[in-house]
Amino acid sequence: MDTGSPTCSFDAKRDFEVGRRQPGKRPPRPFNQPDAVAGEIFVQTRIEKFAWIGQPIEIKVIQVYLRNSIKLNEGICRTLDISGVSERAQQSARQRGLAGTEVALEPDRELRRQHARNRCAERQRGRLVGQVQQYIGLGMIGSMGHAEISDWGALAARIKDWGRELGFDAIGIGGIDLPEAEQGLADWLAAGFHGEMDYMARHGTRRSRPAELVPGTLRVISARMNYRPEAADAAANLADATRAYLSRYALGRDYHKVIRARLQKLAERIESETGPFIHRVFTDSAPVMEVAIASGAGLGWRGKHTLLLTREAGSWFFLGEILVGLPLPLDEPVSDHCGTCRRCLDVCPTGAIVAPYQVDARRCISYLTIELKGSIPAGLRPLIGNRVYGCDDCQIHCPWNRDAPITRETDFAVRHGLDRATLVDLFGWTQQAFESRMAGSAILRIGYERWLRNLAVGLGNAPTSSQVVDALRTRQEDSSALVREHVEWALARHAA
Ligand code: SF4
Ligand code: SF4
Repeated sequence: MDTGSPTCSFDAKRDFEVGRRQPGKRPPRPFNQPDAVAGEIFVQTRIEKFAWIGQPIEIKVIQVYLRNSIKLNEGICRTLDISGVSERAQQSARQRGLAGTEVALEPDRELRRQHARNRCAERQRGRLVGQVQQYIGLGMIGSMGHAEISDWGALAARIKDWGRELGFDAIGIGGIDLPEAEQGLADWLAAGFHGEMDYMARHGTRRSRPAELVPGTLRVISARMNYRPEAADAAANLADATRAYLSRYALGRDYHKVIRARLQKLAERIESETGPFIHRVFTDSAPVMEVAIASGAGLGWRGKHTLLLTREAGSWFFLGEILVGLPLPLDEPVSDHCGTCRRCLDVCPTGAIVAPYQVDARRCISYLTIELKGSIPAGLRPLIGNRVYGCDDCQIHCPWNRDAPITRETDFAVRHGLDRATLVDLFGWTQQAFESRMAGSAILRIGYERWLRNLAVGLGNAPTSSQVVDALRTRQEDSSALVREHVEWALARHAA
């Protein structure tokens, strides 16, 4: 490990058990060396719980040798300046079996101030903590009962079976090296294609390096759940300009909650077999490159529209991940089957797919109706048509979606007749009606103001009728300037 930058600070927000030695078993090398106190730490304590007790804490990793030999015992220093806290932390450490370690807790105001001034840069911290935790993860493999798992391939097969039992349509296991995706993201950001989505750049390499996001991660279990609802006829809905088109994924319950809960159950099922292990579940909820990970896990390939695509299920599905510190065998990636097709590029209403595998989000209707907070560029409004929440055109026209399966998940069934609702009806909803009907839906996230903004654009693109014009006039004096501006634009379209 790089000893040139020896200090790193633990985030210490989590609290998981690092290790529990099985009776009669010794940890593997190098953790079996009596003087490498790390071995004792790893098998008997809750490292992060301890770090939480004494946070913020700095750990100097002073020596790391090849073959995972590390010593953590000589440079742990305390930075809190609260009187008596070191004694309490020391006592707490002893209670947790740390008495044999050389842990020094030193109240030190100067260090505290210095720490505040000179926080480690995010990337450096992530890298160092990731390395330390990866060693911890490796130590855990030998000391948490994982050693008893002699056949990781069999465990991987069981994980896939459990995933199916929990309602997932496919499970794959991928690695954590995503250099191509990392470069692709950097190029995409450099081109400014992310628009207002600054959060895409905010997490640095943590997005493309899962082990920096969850230290100790060795593999990613990628899960797919189909969402295409039975009732919704996307093409018919889209063709009727008096009806509102909402992206198919948003017609049912919020997928974040559904998938996250299932992934958590899957993690618990794994834990019941392996014992405690490093893991964290995600579904579109953190900086994770879902498509790149899923494609590496053999769940499909990245289509020219940039979504994951499979031969069996097209692209109407959600993805979720569990980052795990288990050395599961990797699945084989799937080859690209887009071939010479370019339908998604040709049908995109706004020309947002600027080249194969490249979407300029600033032109994408999903971005304009969901992510963009302010005014929708006037030049793009006529191209949006009746799409008031997201857009599916590049999926509707993809040949691999022709026979995409219907979801088995009842939570994704259409709610409130959203696949048939008219623009006028939805525009008439009060804020209270919007919030109560959209409770538990992903649509609630955009809020009432953007909901009305989007519907005003849809109404501006609808065929002129007294019903449409009257509906727009009811909101000419709306309290939101954003809504008023879009209503005026829509009325001007009909006046013309
Ligand atoms: S979601 Fe719609 S606007 Fe965005 S790339 Fe696909 S077709 Fe184009
Ligand atoms: S429409 Fe054609 S090019 Fe686009 S993702 Fe589907 S198969 Fe690939």
